[in-house]
Amino acid sequence: MSTIVLDREYFINVFRDMLPFVDEQAEHLQQLDSEIGDGDHGINLTIGFREVTKQLDTINEEAADISTVFKKIGMILLGKVGGSSGPLYGSFFMKAGKDVTGKDEVTFDEFCGMLINGIEAIQLRGKAEIGDKTMIDAFLPGVDVLKQDKPEDPIEKFTAFVEAMKEGAESTIPLVAKKGRAMRLGERAVGHKDPGAESAWMMMEVFLKRLKEAAYA
Ligand SMILES: [Mg+2]
Repeated sequence: MSTIVLDREYFINVFRDMLPFVDEQAEHLQQLDSEIGDGDHGINLTIGFREVTKQLDTINEEAADISTVFKKIGMILLGKVGGSSGPLYGSFFMKAGKDVTGKDEVTFDEFCGMLINGIEAIQLRGKAEIGDKTMIDAFLPGVDVLKQDKPEDPIEKFTAFVEAMKEGAESTIPLVAKKGRAMRLGERAVGHKDPGAESAWMMMEVFLKRLKEAAYA
């Protein structure tokens, strides 16, 4: 079993990957959001991560630790991403950094803790529960995986985490929305996947890709 230590460079690389990733997925997310929302989820994320990319070198130079990197990224998303996903993803990244003050590298377990903190912040902010047809339907099954002892291997565990989130996103398809704009559609939201749940697992896959590089380096 590999014990992975994730340094600042890992996280900076992940954040650098986010813009090409959202650019690539923008149309897909846009499509999902136009079915049950206002069709701006893809472009909102693109705008947010474009700004992240613009500021990333400065953030990397000036931030004292990984905690600050996450806080700065979260603040950018909070300010730049429109719709409900801005405050939610903003809170996610801001709170993900809260327990790693002073650290320039974290263990894989600490990283899992960061994600759990971030997801708790989303729940606190959005007040959504499982079955409300939101990104929480993707995130909470993921948290269950992160909190389990097994698999011990970081790559296996994170892969299972992303898989659980992906399945969680799929689980939103038959649901009536109880939060967000899609709520107004009532039964008409049935048959459509929640765009926030979709972008949530996809974003975690960006972390996974770089994690594999870090593990097999
Ligand atoms: Mg929208």
